[in-house]
Amino acid sequence: MSELPTRPPRRTHETAPFWDGCAEGRLVLPRCDRCHELVWYPRRFCPLCAGTEVSWEEVSGRGTVYSFTVLRRGDGPYREAAPYVLAYVELDEGPRVLTNVVGTDPGAVAVGQPVRVVFEPAGDGDALPRFTPA
Ligand SMILES: [Zn+2]
Repeated sequence: MSELPTRPPRRTHETAPFWDGCAEGRLVLPRCDRCHELVWYPRRFCPLCAGTEVSWEEVSGRGTVYSFTVLRRGDGPYREAAPYVLAYVELDEGPRVLTNVVGTDPGAVAVGQPVRVVFEPAGDGDALPRFTPA
């Protein structure tokens, strides 16, 4: 478990299936019904072909660290959390997700490192997806 703050997600009509999945411990992303690309960030249309129909599907939750930085000074609720890792994780299915890598020494994180999703409780039954070494 990280010691990062976990704020409740801001649920909207657009993102409800994504947050419902997180609450169930599943990473669920929209896939365009027209061009069949996965959509990140979660929304109910396709930014690639402007298709307006998507289907929500569970992905593996596995990926690799594409890029990262170690933040050594946090602000606000993150003040006590530093140092912590802000990273782009490239999911095995393709999308690159801006996230935190947790559950490891920030100095041990490396580009190309395999990671898997973890879900951290965020109040009211909700959960935030973050990633940890696989
Ligand atoms: Zn599309």
